[in-house]
Amino acid sequence: MSTLVRIAPSPTGFLHVGNVRTALMNWLFTRKQGGKFMLRLDDTDMERSTQAFADAIERDFKWLGLSWDMFAKQSDRFARYKEVLEQFKAVGRAYPCFENQEELALKRKSQLSRGLPPIYNRDALKLTKDEIDAKIAAGQKPHWRFKLNDTPVVWDDLVQGHKSFAGSALSDPVLVREDGVPLYTFCSVVDDADMKITHVIRGEDHVANTAVQIQIWEAMNAPVPTFAHLPLITLASGEELSKRLGSMSVAGLRDEMGVEPLAIASLLAKTGTSDAIEAADSMDELVNSFDFKKIGRSPPKFDTKDLMRINARIIHHMSYAQAAPRLAGMGLTAVDEKFWNAVHQNMTQFNEIKNWWLIANEKLAPKIEDAELIKHAAATLPAAPWDDTTWGTWTKALGTATGKSGKALFMPLRLALTGQEHGPEMKMMLPLIGEARAKARLAGQTA
Ligand code: GLU
Repeated sequence: MSTLVRIAPSPTGFLHVGNVRTALMNWLFTRKQGGKFMLRLDDTDMERSTQAFADAIERDFKWLGLSWDMFAKQSDRFARYKEVLEQFKAVGRAYPCFENQEELALKRKSQLSRGLPPIYNRDALKLTKDEIDAKIAAGQKPHWRFKLNDTPVVWDDLVQGHKSFAGSALSDPVLVREDGVPLYTFCSVVDDADMKITHVIRGEDHVANTAVQIQIWEAMNAPVPTFAHLPLITLASGEELSKRLGSMSVAGLRDEMGVEPLAIASLLAKTGTSDAIEAADSMDELVNSFDFKKIGRSPPKFDTKDLMRINARIIHHMSYAQAAPRLAGMGLTAVDEKFWNAVHQNMTQFNEIKNWWLIANEKLAPKIEDAELIKHAAATLPAAPWDDTTWGTWTKALGTATGKSGKALFMPLRLALTGQEHGPEMKMMLPLIGEARAKARLAGQTA
């Protein structure tokens, strides 16, 4: 059977580095297997799910290069969940419960105080048919729980190894709420079973769900998929990811930090694995090197310093052909191959190209720090045409004449010509700035 995996985000927020990592691991695994990838929106919570979040999720996955072969959403499938609930009712695997939240909280409290695990005590199973009918006739609406077997639940996890849970230690999960809304634990299995998902790859916060969900698969007579539970990502800064979801969202990294999609994928594919954290040249490279065996058990640390280092590498390796469509999108069609080659080795973010273009082509106020030196420099500036040897010839003579060298020689020149302390090599910048502008800037004029 060919591999089919799914990523099932809820459209109740933006994608962030946590759920993108899960998506990426699914995608890399299935692409390596030659299998398929499904995007499924877990949108049964109609109050919190929005179309705007759904659109943003699709846009972010596309931007990251995580293409999907199939698409589904749970809100299209309410009739099917109802059908499976009826089947479970018919065979006694779903049973009605009438406790409200306060009653359940009280039960848990009393269990905990007696040193018992806070699992549902199945009081509702003691209700007679007449009692149930009377409650319904009195207008009470039941919620429906799944009756777990006491048998142990076991599986071999691709990341965590052999897992085993005693059925008796688990709480019968609620399948459908009193208002008729089916819940994640249930819908997710119905979908995975109907859609023939072969591997469920998700965060280890779902391990306990897996234990109960395996019994739901079995009750549906559906083959149980293979599982991989990934350790949850943490931030290297020590801050909680849940508190930084805004800046750690895909949109935040893209729009505020100017991060390349491949930088995000490279970092998320490698952090927490035995591979080095390096920039990949392509998504294919990440696919080829993917292996569950390389994923460690301790929480991976997402470090924005690594992200920016990888981002810089990706920009340094970017050819003009790769950059050109993006430049056009930014209205920078005038940036030619020569200009790109002169500056991209010095950039860490793609949009810095715009600053360098403006510095070479638009007016700026020079910063004159060593007026004596700059005066001398203006007087000895060679006449055009210039090439990338001009800077060397000019500054060598200038050094000899003024006795200055190193930073004392180069920094005032850089400041006067570009207004910046750092930047691309001046031997490349000088010809791009051109004679007229360079002359005027050395004379202290805004040019
Ligand atoms: N909507 C669930 C989540 O985002 C999906 C979990 C799963 O993969 O089953 O946590």
